[in-house]
Amino acid sequence: MRNNPVNAGKVFGDSIHELSPPEENHHPDPLPPLRDRHGRTFDYVRIAVIEQCNLRCTYCMPEEGVQFKEKDMVLSTEEILRVVNILARMGVRKVRYTGGEPLVRSDIVDIVARTVETPGVRAVHMTTNGLLFSKYARVLREAGLFGVNISLDSLQEDKFQQITRRSGLDKVLESIDLAVELGFPRVKINVVLMRGFNEDELIPFCELTRDKPVTVRFIEFMPFDAHQIWETGQHFASAADLCTQIETHYRDAGINPASGTRTEHHIYQVPGYAGKIAVIPAFTRSLCGNCSRIRVTADGNIMNCLYSEVPYHLKDLMRNGGSDDDIVALFRKAFDEKYKDGFEAKKAASIAAKINVSDIDRVRSSMTQIGG
Ligand code: SAM
Ligand code: SF4
Repeated sequence: MRNNPVNAGKVFGDSIHELSPPEENHHPDPLPPLRDRHGRTFDYVRIAVIEQCNLRCTYCMPEEGVQFKEKDMVLSTEEILRVVNILARMGVRKVRYTGGEPLVRSDIVDIVARTVETPGVRAVHMTTNGLLFSKYARVLREAGLFGVNISLDSLQEDKFQQITRRSGLDKVLESIDLAVELGFPRVKINVVLMRGFNEDELIPFCELTRDKPVTVRFIEFMPFDAHQIWETGQHFASAADLCTQIETHYRDAGINPASGTRTEHHIYQVPGYAGKIAVIPAFTRSLCGNCSRIRVTADGNIMNCLYSEVPYHLKDLMRNGGSDDDIVALFRKAFDEKYKDGFEAKKAASIAAKINVSDIDRVRSSMTQIGG
């Protein structure tokens, strides 16, 4: 648990403070915040800690033949913590660990614990597929992990297996219940809603919020599926469409808009329900103006946008003796060069690749390096 007065003492307490991020603990050696030329400030980093995964989701990677980077091509614990410390000096307050599957990395608990202790960091989160989460939940809670997003796309075992190509729905459901029971202040369920796969489970997923104090987030399917099913053009369900279906179904129940994070623009609560429902326009990208995210890939590149194809080589800089000032300069360069939105980033990527903008989605590969 961090040395922060707000969190000191209790681990699984019922104090109201446990539900809010600890108060601001400024870095002792601050730098000007990371901003871009469009006036946005970046205070949230998502770091992919591994490419490997124990599932093979059809919308993410192929069943076989995935070429993962060698271990020494992935950022080490010390490199990750160095980057986090530098970013905390630049005003980053929220850190999310993702992957691949972060819980497949053997030192992940140590990484989380030490990130929690980093001055300036207010909250550490993780995105996981939930298969191993119940095994590590207690120790992660004790380490000070604040939020967990558990990805789950079907509540039916046969469909779960069809989508992930593995079994384990029971383990994921157990992880969700345990996360709630242990009192993680933020528990969210990420659902990629796809036509022809799980669109009929929209309402069953919403119904999880009746008793569980979780946010169920429906994420638009994006063209990061290693050339598997996006190209068929048959599986995309838009955020607008999902919102209409949710609003129609719960109209008589008096569904209300609720408050959420910056990407949870469409967020609801059904009166009397314990949790919330959110719809994330990840592909239609109506929220780029509010972007606050920095991404670091598992192989150590800074990405200034999910839709950009331009890596900034952070690991190489560190391994070639780059100083902290050099690293700060690389982050500033990456964000000076950030485009206004994901559409502009995609257009620039297509020009650089000398292909038509409508073809760029076909050259992009998996989400496992960039972590979503
Ligand atoms: N393995 C972990 C997991 O599944 O939660 C973390 C990594 S995963 C790449 C992060 C998030 O990206 C998951 O919620 C996953 O559902 C989502 N994702 C992966 N590929 C996607 C795609 N093509 N479109 C939309 N979301 C995707
Ligand atoms: Fe693994 Fe997550 Fe990709 Fe599924 S979405 S294959 S769990 S990295």
